[in-house]
Order: sequence, then C-alpha cells, then structure tokens
Amino acid sequence: MKNNWRSLATYALLVLVALAIVAPLFTPEKPVKEVPFSVFLDQVDKGEIKAVSISNDLISATAGDKSRLKTRALNYPNLVGLLREKGVAINVEAPPESSWVVNLLIQLLAPVAFFGLLWWLMLRQAQGANSQAMSFGRANMKPQTRKIDVTFADVAGVDEAKEELKEIVDFLKTPQKFHALGAKIPKGLLLMGPPGTGKTLLARAIAGEAGVPFFSISGSDFVEMFVGVGAARVRSVFEQAKKQTPSIIFMDEVDAVGRHRGAGLGGGHDEREQTLNQLLVEMDGFDPKVNIIVIAATNRPDILDPALLRPGRFDRQVVLDKPDLKGRADILAIHAKGKPLAGDVDLNVVARRTPGFTGADLENVLNEAAILAARAEKKEVSMEEVEEAADRVMAGPEKKSRVISDREKKIIAYHEVGHAILSSVLPNADPVHKISILPRGLALGYTLQLPLEDKYLVTKGQAVDQITVLMGGRVAEELFFNEVTSGAHNDLQRATELANKMVTEFGMSGLGPRTFGRKDRQIFLGRDITEMKDYSEQTADEIDGEIEKIINDCHARAKELLGKNRAKVDSIAQVLIEKETLENSDLEEALKGLQGA
Ligand code: ADP
Ligand code: MG
Ligand code: ZN
Repeated sequence: MKNNWRSLATYALLVLVALAIVAPLFTPEKPVKEVPFSVFLDQVDKGEIKAVSISNDLISATAGDKSRLKTRALNYPNLVGLLREKGVAINVEAPPESSWVVNLLIQLLAPVAFFGLLWWLMLRQAQGANSQAMSFGRANMKPQTRKIDVTFADVAGVDEAKEELKEIVDFLKTPQKFHALGAKIPKGLLLMGPPGTGKTLLARAIAGEAGVPFFSISGSDFVEMFVGVGAARVRSVFEQAKKQTPSIIFMDEVDAVGRHRGAGLGGGHDEREQTLNQLLVEMDGFDPKVNIIVIAATNRPDILDPALLRPGRFDRQVVLDKPDLKGRADILAIHAKGKPLAGDVDLNVVARRTPGFTGADLENVLNEAAILAARAEKKEVSMEEVEEAADRVMAGPEKKSRVISDREKKIIAYHEVGHAILSSVLPNADPVHKISILPRGLALGYTLQLPLEDKYLVTKGQAVDQITVLMGGRVAEELFFNEVTSGAHNDLQRATELANKMVTEFGMSGLGPRTFGRKDRQIFLGRDITEMKDYSEQTADEIDGEIEKIINDCHARAKELLGKNRAKVDSIAQVLIEKETLENSDLEEALKGLQGA
C-alpha cells in the first residue's frame, strides 16, 4: 500500500510536468513576422499598415493584406504623429501576457512542485530513519506466511523458557483440544532478557514450531513522526492477524511504546501514549476464543507500563538469562554448524572461557574466527582463531600497533604475573587460563581466570581469595618497582565492589549476618534502580571500616604470598615479556613449584 501512495504521487507529478512542457505548443499563435523597426517605418510610410497595437516597446502591426508583423521601438518620439498621419488605428495594450493555459499551469504547478519536493524529502528522511511515516498507518509488514524455518532446535541454553513455550506451541497447533476443556490460554507473553539472549530468535522459533503466520512489528515502527500513525498500525496488525488465525503477533522491543506513561523527559509522548492505548484496547478487545497469541520482547522490563503486565495482557512472562556453561557449549555447537572446525577446537573449552557471553556474542565469536581463518587462507577454523576471536569479542581487537615502552611492558608483565600467581596459589580462586601483556581494548594486559563452573553461590573464602587475586597486580608493582601505577584502577574498583557486597549484601563481615541498604534491582539487568539507605551515619562509618579491613587484609595476604614467590615472579615475568602471551602447557609449566599459603 505504501508503494501505491508513492507511485500515485510520482505519477501526478510527472503528468503535470509533461503538461507544462507540452501546453505552449498548443497555444494558438498566428504566424507573426518580426521585422526591423526601419522596415516597419517604411511600411507605414507606404501606407501598408492598417492597425498597430503597442505594448511597451513591442509593436504588433496588421497590414492591409491581414499579414501580421511585429517590431520593437523604444520611445520613438514621432511614431504616434506618423501613425496618425497615415490613418493607422492605434491600440495600446497592457504588457503582453503569456497564454492563460501556461499561466494557469504555472500557478498550479508551483505549489504542487513545492509540496512534491517536500514530500519526497520527508519520504527520504522517514526511510532513512527506518520508519514509514508516509504509509499513514497501514501496517506495511506482511505476515511471514512463508514458513519460518527456525525451530526450538536452533535455540540453546534457555531450556526452561523453551519448556514453558512448548505449551504455547501446543495451543497454536491444536487450539480445539484446549477449548474443549475450557482452558484459558494466555493472550500475551512477554520475553524479557538482556540484548542478544535470543528473544527475537525464540519468538520466531515458536512460529516455526507451530507453523502459523507470524506478524512481526518492532517498537520503533510504533512510534512515528505523526501522532496516530502508530496506533493505526497496531489496529491494522490485529485486523490482519484476526483474518488468519491461529497466528502470532510479535512485538519486538515493546519498551519503545510500552514505556511508563508520563515517564520520560520533555513532551512529545502523545504518539507513544496513543499507540500504547490502542495496544491495550486491542488486547482487551479480542475474545480468547480468537486464536491469536501476542508475544512481546523487551530488555527493559523495568520501564514497562504496569498496565501492560495486568492479567489478560502480557501476564505470562518468560525470562531469558545469559547462558550458563552448558548453554554456551550448546549454542556454540549450533553456530559451529557449517563451519569446518579443525580437530584441536574444543567447544567446551571455548564455553568455559566465555562466561557472561550471550548467544549473540557466541555466534559472533565463531563468525570472527571463521573470518580470521579465511584471512589466513586456511581451510579450517583452528583453536587459535577461536581463541583470538573470543578475546576480540570480549575486549576488542588486539592492538599490536599500540606503542608501549619497554619499562611499561615490564611493569605490565609483573602486574599480570602477580594476578596469575595468586590465582594459582589460592585454593578458592579460579584457575588461570591465559596471561597476556598485549593491550586489548582499554586494558593494558590481562589475566584470564577460568571459572570451572558457573557459580550461583559465592563462598566467603572465594570472595576473599578473589579480592586477594585482584590485589596481586598492584602488590607486584609495589614489590618489584617500589612504585604504583594507574594500571590497577579496574582491579581496585572490582575489589572494592566485591568487598562492599560482602559487607552490605552477603553478611560476610564483623557487622554480622544482615544487609544494609534496600536495593530495588532487576537481577538479570545487573543494575541497581534505586537504593534506599536504611542505616545511620554511624553504621555507615562501620561499613566503611569493614570494607577497608577486608581490602587491607587481602592486600597484606597478597604481599606475603608474592614475597614468598619472588624468584618465581621474576622468572615468569621474563618469559611473559618475551612471549607476550602465556597459555596452556607453557603456563602450567611456568606456574609449577609455587610456594602455597
Ligand atoms: P535478542 O532479541 O534477545 O536481542 P536475538 O534473538 O536477536 O537476541 O539474537 C541474535 C542472534 O544471536 C540470533 O539470531 C542467534 O543467531 C544468536 N543467539 C542468541 N541467543 C541464542 C540462543 N539462545 N541460541 C542460539 N543462538 C542464539
Ligand atoms: Mg531482538
Ligand atoms: Zn590488574
């Protein structure tokens, strides 16, 4: 429909332009001969001219034989006298006007051309912004009736969500079975989770599994340049979906429209509010017997308007978390399909070293690896490329070109070895997988610790050891250079955060088993929304004291342990400076024979 509007406008414009060009050709014009003024005067003298018509400097004359001619004269003083003498009829006209057809066209065309141009500019802009303001509410998405070939098998690491969604698929496949038993099926389903965890993928998989039409519309389509367009779209989507039941309506990034009404800064929320209201009206309006399921996805459930979550709307909520170890391995296996992997690639190892990666990140890792392999003219993707790709996705590409002085390199090496030795010596710390002094992203060097399993519980011992490991870099600088650098900034920040949690959240300090401060947080977004202080100033002092104590103890412990292993620190640092990266057997070899706690 959108195209029709556009082509209609284009045609109208073309026809008008063509008319403007062609019209003058049809204006009636008798043949008029243009002659020099002197010739004209001669003819007047000879009495051949019967009538003239003067308009400014233009003189049109009719001769006795009805032939017409014209000439130009500017302020010729005696012309009138001469003409009178010869008995020529004189007519004085207003300045010449072009034919009325042309005039009318120009008058019509100017605004049309202007608005046409405006229209065109707006269209371009609207498309640039990836919206279709000009389609005036006719939802332009077509149902993806061609079969969606994504199935649950293409989604891994979200087993619980899949389990819940199987029921929905069942319903879409055989609604009669449910209706017969009087079961009420949820109208709306909300998929929540951080970006890249497969919400969009999963929604498509539901449609793929059920084999029903899938009407997909994204949040940004709703919020349009013109108030009312988004609302019209919502109406149109529901209309279309109702014609083809059972079907799925998928609203991606629903937070764009479902934001808290009245929230946000500034005005201009009318459009969003209208759209949201329309959505609520539609969801309340359709009969549960109509076999439509509305699936919405968001990574900002915290800002959704509560009205959306009320019973009868998106009352079924499914959370997609970042995948755990097994989930990551499964996702890697899915995306490894179609990529020839060399024998040395162990996806379980890759999964172990990528905690916190989402499905999208993991897909990215394997894709980057394939690109690296292709660039190196290889026929297979080997572990080397996969490791490099994982590092890239984690921290941006290796910056080999960044210039680092030898002294800086030495300090970085000792710093990283400090971390590595401690994580190897401390019983509760995660083992080291790799140390590198190649700068990556913002980090100068890094020590990659590999949690053996994803942790759901952190013991006090683990927390303390982790803080000690974090202190290792700074302590190595102190011990070997009698100097501290800014390189430990991130370590110190993480150590402080963890110590703070131990005291205020985990009850792991001298202040006893209680929490301090109430946090209203969305766990999986990893972000505190509001924090309320529920303790006195004096307690605040005590909390600070406890945090300081933990950090100081860990610092002292790090110092003691690295002091015991001075020679080892030196020797490993030398190797690291040489090789820049230490991993696998080299690393194991290097870390042998350390003095424990
Ligand atoms: P979201 O909508 O949650 O931001 P997407 O569904 O768009 O995430 O995920 C982007 C891509 O990442 C998917 O197309 C898929 O290739 C990959 N992906 C994400 N999560 C998974 C998963 N759980 N299993 C397999 N692939 C995944
Ligand atoms: Mg998405
Ligand atoms: Zn460090």
